[in-house]
Amino acid sequence: MDIQNLLEDITGAVQPQIGQGQVAGYIPQLGAVDPHQFGISLVTKDGEVFSAGDAHVEFSIQSISKVFALALVLSSDGDGIWKRVFREPSGNPFNSLVQLESEDGIPRNPFINAGAIVVTDRLLSLTGDAAGAVRALMRRESGNALVDTDHRVATSELESGHRNASLAHFLASCGNLENPVDEVLESYAQQCALAMTCQDLALAARFLASNGLGAEGELVLSPAQTKRINAVMLTCGTYDAAGEFAYRVGLPGKSGVGGGIVAVVPGKCAISVWSPGLGRSGNSVAGVAALDEFTTRTGWSVF
Ligand code: GLU
Repeated sequence: MDIQNLLEDITGAVQPQIGQGQVAGYIPQLGAVDPHQFGISLVTKDGEVFSAGDAHVEFSIQSISKVFALALVLSSDGDGIWKRVFREPSGNPFNSLVQLESEDGIPRNPFINAGAIVVTDRLLSLTGDAAGAVRALMRRESGNALVDTDHRVATSELESGHRNASLAHFLASCGNLENPVDEVLESYAQQCALAMTCQDLALAARFLASNGLGAEGELVLSPAQTKRINAVMLTCGTYDAAGEFAYRVGLPGKSGVGGGIVAVVPGKCAISVWSPGLGRSGNSVAGVAALDEFTTRTGWSVF
């Protein structure tokens, strides 16, 4: 298969969707991003890289960071996190407070904000610097030592992040945080504000397509943990539209409100797409369309 040609074709095919939807204005810095951009990168499990469109433009990875934080916690701490976070789809918006109260402070899954705050809290206990640990993983796996937090985005989120603050205080009131609320929220905002390109992200996610094997030949996760993290991505990775994403794309995926999505074809490749316009559930409109085209044309879905 001519993958380069395919990515260029897909970039052409989704032109009508680019710019559709809304950028995530609830974080003021993200609201300022030009929606008329689209990038796509694919990295095979053996490390071959293909890119098209704006694949070398940095964007805010936001919730995509949650996959990498979870990978770090699972790899150094095993299954203990599952006592503090469930792994079921929530059926609610990613920042909802309602379910957390009715379920006594145990978040539904690690990819909604409440669950990710618990994972970051654990990573902070394990490393002393949760955002630094996620950044180091991203740098090593992408091979780009310049990957860094965009501090304007982190500050913008912290200044306007009243909902996340409510979730964190509620978690603390239920005894489900180990560290002070302010420290956890700061780490969480910094990991979400990592700025990366599609190519960086696809490279960084390659271990999810290769049974956990990382860029330097090390095991980022065991094959069994890799299977499980991909399963949680499939069922919980694309907000309240994981069913629709499975229907259209049919791959484990994780989206972020910066407009990025990382998807995994287990045993074959990792793909990253980015376009800032979000649909009603918070997933990139052109990004989902591109992944739909990709699996429809290649037959590379898990179904
Ligand atoms: N930092 C964002 C928030 O907590 C992440 C949201 C997302 O990408 O889903 O609101």
